[in-house]
Amino acid sequence: KPASEREILGHPQGLFYLFFAELWERFSFYGMRALLTLYMVNVIFEALAERDYATAAVYASYGSLVYASTVIGGKISDSILGMRNSIFLGGILMSIGHFVLAIENDIAFFLALSFIIVGNGFFKPNISTFVGTLYEKGDPKKDSGFTIFYMGINIGGWVAPLLCGWLAATYGWHYGFGLAGIGMLTGLIFFWSGIKKGVFGDKGMAPEDGSINKKVVGIKQGILVPVLAVLSAPIIAYLLSSYKAVATDGLLADQNIVNVIFKFIGIAVLAYLGYIMFKATLDERKKLFVAVLITFFMTIFWGFHELSGSVITLFAARNVSLDGIMTAAQTNSLNSMWIIILAIPISMMWTKLAKSGKNPRTPYKFGLGLLFAGISFYILAISGASANDNGLVPFAYLLLMYFLLSVGELFMSPVGLSKITDLSPTRIVAFMMGVWFLSSAFAFQVVGFIGKQLAIESTDANVGGFDTLTVYTEGFELIAYYSIGAGLLVLIASPLIKKLMGNVH
Ligand code: GLN
Repeated sequence: KPASEREILGHPQGLFYLFFAELWERFSFYGMRALLTLYMVNVIFEALAERDYATAAVYASYGSLVYASTVIGGKISDSILGMRNSIFLGGILMSIGHFVLAIENDIAFFLALSFIIVGNGFFKPNISTFVGTLYEKGDPKKDSGFTIFYMGINIGGWVAPLLCGWLAATYGWHYGFGLAGIGMLTGLIFFWSGIKKGVFGDKGMAPEDGSINKKVVGIKQGILVPVLAVLSAPIIAYLLSSYKAVATDGLLADQNIVNVIFKFIGIAVLAYLGYIMFKATLDERKKLFVAVLITFFMTIFWGFHELSGSVITLFAARNVSLDGIMTAAQTNSLNSMWIIILAIPISMMWTKLAKSGKNPRTPYKFGLGLLFAGISFYILAISGASANDNGLVPFAYLLLMYFLLSVGELFMSPVGLSKITDLSPTRIVAFMMGVWFLSSAFAFQVVGFIGKQLAIESTDANVGGFDTLTVYTEGFELIAYYSIGAGLLVLIASPLIKKLMGNVH
């Protein structure tokens, strides 16, 4: 049998090469993310009293751009490079980013983040789509293939913060960042060895129309794309570093350049969706409306969930009793740890419920997911009452919080992804997948907003105690109410949403 047809555990062999490639890419992504906020607060913006504010703003811009770039990377892959080339290009750009991050210098810092943003844009959407191409249309194994892939993501997301956090605490920040870079290179080697062995057959090649060799301004597009990608890095670095608000009052108060750009993108996307809905048939319009709703709920969820790398990391550093357990950076591994433990039991629960016809439909799962997220923040809010004399709360609260948040994630993220494809008319599925990734991008705008509200002004390296504890727990309480409120609204609206979905489960 040719390598592309051989199977492991009933899945195409190629899945396991993509599994390890993505595992190591996420290792680099989350290893770096675990250090990012603490590195900004303690090194890059150390001297500023408003260092928390600056950190929250840059973190949000980084997160928004790192997910928005996937829309462009997906498009360029479809029309010019193909998935294989895109994944290589993305992986190389990301490794460069991680290694540049190991240099302790402000300009290097912003440039490095830019390389990761552009690199992720080429890597992440294309490796996810690649998994789908390994299966025939309608193959029932595809869903479990994606569950295995999601496991890979979270094994990377679990181990990396532990190792990079340990290196950063023991030997220095740049060792932690350096290991992230090595992780990314390891991912590329796995991908390359899969290609060498022929496990992907002829999948993921550049489009057959030869666009890659077509010349624009005398240069082949296949060369032009990487050149432009590299050249865009300084521009993105400039955007990232402009964390200050463009205006002090009015409509743009507290908004930096990246915030303003995302406002425009949001309006444009909504206008385009409105136009598509206007032209669609009634049935398509109903389903599309639900797809947009689902994406909107997902944005709210990620907006609270992605606080883990920013406000919650700072909360862990300043107000959680971590002595002898782990460092604040390492707490970033807890979400992935719970996902690894819970992913299979929860997917088995759905299958079991489905057998007796009781598998809840998507809107109910989404309502419950938001409810879980809300309760998870409520746990942190009430943790304040158990603080010791130094204003530190027991670690168990953080552990329980991540447990609930991860249950919420598994109720929403994997389910939503497959529903989007079912609910969108075929001609715009690719666009809707882009919108789905944009939900994470807009979520980071929420993360930035909250991060700025909960920023603590201080140049004291040991900031913490009851002053910060109250700020955080009051903030978490508000988030809990918003999330629980949103969850209840979704549950109340579920019978109606269910009707609009028609035959889609
Ligand atoms: N943890 C998942 C991943 O890294 C999803 C993250 C997201 O979309 N915000 O792929």
